[in-house]
Amino acid sequence: MAEETIFRKIIDKEIPADVVYQDELVTAFRDINPRAPIHVLIIPNKLIPTVNDIEAEDELVMGRLFTVAKKIAKEEGIAQDGYRLIMNCNSYGGQEVYHIHMHLVGGRALGPILLS
Ligand code: 5GP
Repeated sequence: MAEETIFRKIIDKEIPADVVYQDELVTAFRDINPRAPIHVLIIPNKLIPTVNDIEAEDELVMGRLFTVAKKIAKEEGIAQDGYRLIMNCNSYGGQEVYHIHMHLVGGRALGPILLS
């Protein structure tokens, strides 16, 4: 079985985080090391370590990540100008925390997608 990460403690409110949204499927909180004026992580409440581990039964929660991202972008006032949603997978993808998370990044113009 996959090992829980620091994100489990955030979901369960065992450690502090700036949680901006939570429901029965997902939790969203501000990244501790923001790379833009708005940088929120949206994660499933259940542990899915990487994109490679997503199953058909996870389609509801994966869809919820997008509808929550859209809602937060609107609330944060960045929907009209635009923003970026990123999900890193495994070491070559730059994944550091093995509990999948969608990065919602915005509040400034972002350059071309980073491929280096
Ligand atoms: P990854 O590189 O895995 O796609 O992104 C992990 C993200 O989680 C990083 O942007 C990092 O700053 C953020 N992060 C790691 N630990 C914590 C934490 O304890 N609290 C919060 N709020 N963000 C964290």
